[in-house]
Amino acid sequence: MDLPDYAIEARGLVKTYAATKTTPQMQALRGIDLAIPRGSIFGLLGPNGAGKSTFINILAGLCRKTSGTVSIWGRDIDERPRDARAAIGVVPQEIAADPFFTPLEALEVAAGMYAVPPKERRSRELLAALGLADKEKAYVRQLSGGMKRRLMVAKAMVHNPPVLILDEPTAGVDVELRKQLWNYVLELNRKGVTIVLTTHYLEEAEELCDQIAIINRGQVVACEPTTTLLRRMDTRKVIVTPEEPVAQAPALPGFETQMLKGGAFSVAYRTGQSSVEQVLAAIRKAGLHIKDISTEDPDLEDVFVSLTYAAPEAAEI
Ligand code: ADP
Repeated sequence: MDLPDYAIEARGLVKTYAATKTTPQMQALRGIDLAIPRGSIFGLLGPNGAGKSTFINILAGLCRKTSGTVSIWGRDIDERPRDARAAIGVVPQEIAADPFFTPLEALEVAAGMYAVPPKERRSRELLAALGLADKEKAYVRQLSGGMKRRLMVAKAMVHNPPVLILDEPTAGVDVELRKQLWNYVLELNRKGVTIVLTTHYLEEAEELCDQIAIINRGQVVACEPTTTLLRRMDTRKVIVTPEEPVAQAPALPGFETQMLKGGAFSVAYRTGQSSVEQVLAAIRKAGLHIKDISTEDPDLEDVFVSLTYAAPEAAEI
């Protein structure tokens, strides 16, 4: 069979959660178009509530889309749901441990669920690859949080899927383990597995992903190679403490200013358009004397604001 150009392709994907007694109807995805190239490490980045998990749950067959189309490895999820699901492994956000199994048993059960014939199972190989070979016979409940997480990656790979999806894989994971996990993920990618990961850490996406899609309020607001995207995120902030505390942030032509505590204020500028020199000149021109300044890189929220301010205010309908 010809390999598909895209590991995952979504067109006009919409998900509306029905209203409940306590929550209004919620349009979690509002027309997602995404084409994830085969062989890439693709980051889905967005703040909490953006719709990342909803998107992944639709791919995993855990959540029903409202409209739009999705194919996984060239297989439409409506027309060939089983084939589509066989092409992905999903590592969920929550650790779901099997307390009474050993890691080896847990993998064998998972392989059984995917109907992998015993001869083709690679449970021991997976345990070794994830540094769990010596825990083969321990009970899962005796494993540390990090080991359980690695076991979940192994479980997602039992059927040897060409696409691996990791939902917030490093939330609450220490630095050392994070590195280990990434090394394994990178190795899988070198072997040809397409990796899709969700995160709300910009640095994580920056470090690993070839391409990043930013999702906010159920819409894709940017989808670009990582390097291109980072170039666009050129907002910097100068934090200014004036000699005389100000009561409100001064209006500086061409810059956005914001009041901070203690009579200080911040000035945002874009490195491609202005320099710190120009910011300082504008402050002096406004008649202010500077006691102290520092600079600050933008956090993800600033980036979202600059990329998404054109998006409608609320996702609730
Ligand atoms: P993310 O993974 O980016 O944090 P989610 O996909 O979990 O975002 O959530 C997107 C939006 O859909 C949020 O507003 C969330 O409250 C809502 N949502 C998620 N799951 C459900 C559900 N089962 N029922 C109703 N609303 C939901």
